[in-house]
Amino acid sequence: MKTVLITGGAGFIGSHLCDRLVKDNKVICVDNTFTGSEANVKHLMGDDNFRFVKHDIIEPLFLDDEDIDEIYNLACPASPVHYQFNAIRTIKANILGMVNMLGLAIKHKARILQASTSEVYGDPLEHPQREDYWGNVNCTGIRSCYDEGKRCAETLMFDYHRQNKVDIKVIRIFNTYGPRMAKDDGRVVSNFITQGLSGKDITVYGDGKQTRSFCYISDMISGIIKMMGKDDFIGPVNLGNPKEFTILELAKEVIELSGSDSKVVFKKLPSDDPKKRCPDISLAKKKLGWEPKVELREGLKKTIEYFRGK
Ligand code: NAD
Ligand code: UDP
Repeated sequence: MKTVLITGGAGFIGSHLCDRLVKDNKVICVDNTFTGSEANVKHLMGDDNFRFVKHDIIEPLFLDDEDIDEIYNLACPASPVHYQFNAIRTIKANILGMVNMLGLAIKHKARILQASTSEVYGDPLEHPQREDYWGNVNCTGIRSCYDEGKRCAETLMFDYHRQNKVDIKVIRIFNTYGPRMAKDDGRVVSNFITQGLSGKDITVYGDGKQTRSFCYISDMISGIIKMMGKDDFIGPVNLGNPKEFTILELAKEVIELSGSDSKVVFKKLPSDDPKKRCPDISLAKKKLGWEPKVELREGLKKTIEYFRGK
């Protein structure tokens, strides 16, 4: 049985990863609970294969009694509202946190996977985005703490690989949604569903013609685990759903599926908000034999059910 460390394990994606991996592995979930919550992993607390460690990865982590085989590094606030709340901490989580986790990987001779993001492409000038596109990123804007932080984290991964032969995996996650997104998260899917279910106005930023591609959580977890298990391929690799929707289309789907009588209202578009985003997943298909299976409507129905129960 392997021992896997999941940083950000009490967050949205991390907690689903804990669920999946705890079946066959010893899981150490490390989280400072900034945007995640112990409630997301409460059901695992009594499991002999599961251990929760409250820790901020900005600080070095010592787990000398453990023999760690794999590290999934997910610790970082993901919603623009939360990562901009304390931008300097976001940069520290991405850079100091990455250095600390790479140090831990060296010490334990562990394989390490970095949860990077489609944000490394910024407001892309190429569409859909392929891994060999270098991006169009503002380095001084309000999203830069996250975008540039994640870009530098990728650089660190590759330099540790070249210099120290660390066994790395880099995935670029595109917008992912599903149960356990935080209600107050500020991201578009959770905002629209919360607003739709409570009959409040649906807040579309800008004219709603900007696009995103939404991947359901179960598909994302399969992709992440496949990448960790793949030898002789370090990435970066895009993981996301290649079906592209405008934000206005998303709003209409949520209104219909939640049976809501909410109205759409238009609000100011935040600065540097990417106009288009859609992954080219040819590489993931070829190298990992992976592609998403869950259609947006099906995933939204499950997510709406989850939020109804909250
Ligand atoms: P999330 O906010 O739900 O999860 C992040 C988790 O990391 C939280 O539990 C939070 O408490 C924890 N955390 C934050 N800073 C930390 C620190 N310094 N030390 C320890 N723990 C810390 O977000 P998510 O959607 O689950 O995202 C997980 C990862 O995937 C993030 O790295 C994010 O950048 C990446 N990602 C997510 C998406 C998406 O659409 N969900 C898209 C691209 C990339
Ligand atoms: N958005 C919106 N209304 C909201 C929240 C977000 O119209 O209540 C828009 C946002 O401006 C962006 C898209 O939805 O164009 C996706 O935003 P999110 O914060 O989920 O993630 P991003 O992909 O921008 O990181």
